[in-house]
Amino acid sequence: AKRDSMFDPKDYIRTVPDWPKPGVQFRDITTLLSNGPVFRQLIDTFIDRYQPVGLDAVVGIDARGFILGAPLAYQLGLAFVPVRKQGKLPFDTFEEAYELEYGEAILQVHADALDPGQRVLVIDDLVATGGTLMAACKLVQRLGADVHECAAIVDLPALGGSQAVLDAGFGFHALCQYE
Ligand code: AMP
Repeated sequence: AKRDSMFDPKDYIRTVPDWPKPGVQFRDITTLLSNGPVFRQLIDTFIDRYQPVGLDAVVGIDARGFILGAPLAYQLGLAFVPVRKQGKLPFDTFEEAYELEYGEAILQVHADALDPGQRVLVIDDLVATGGTLMAACKLVQRLGADVHECAAIVDLPALGGSQAVLDAGFGFHALCQYE
C-alpha cells in the first residue's frame, strides 16, 4: 500500500529538556505512540521497507524496541526475539556488556532464539552512542544469525552511534535525526 510520504516522526516526538539529568534532551516517543493513526503510520513505514526483504525474524531491544518490533513481526509474519536487560530471560542465555555513561549494562538473548543463517532486523527507538544496538548485533552474531539492518525511529548522529554501527559492518536506517 502507498503510505503518506509526508509522515515525519519529529512532528509527534516530545523533547523533554534536562531529563533524566541536566544537559540531556530526552526524545519521548510516548506522544507518538498515543496517537493511534500515527502509531500505525510509523509501523507501516517500517513494514514498507522490510516486507520485500524476506527476513526471518525481528529482534527488539528492551524495552521500547519491543513496542516497535512486535507489531512489525506480527504484520510480516515473522518471529519476534526479545533482547533483554540482564536477569529477565529464564532459559540459557548469551550476554554482552556495553558501556553506559556511568558503568556498564548487560543485554541477554536466549541461546536458542535464532537459527544460524537467519536474516534479522534489529530495532530500537533511538540510537545515541550506539552501545545498545552494537551489543544487540553482537548477540545476533553469537547465535550465528545475520543482521540485515538495524532500525530506529531516531538517530542522534552527533553522538556517533549510527556511524559506529555502520563502521562495524551493519546496515543502519533511521526515520529522523536530531543534531
Ligand atoms: P545508546 O546505547 O547510547 O545508543 O543509547 C540508546 C538507548 O538509550 C536507547 O534504548 C534509547 O531508548 C535510550 N536513549 C539514549 N539517549 C536518549 C535520548 N536522548 N532520548 C531518548 N532515549 C534515549
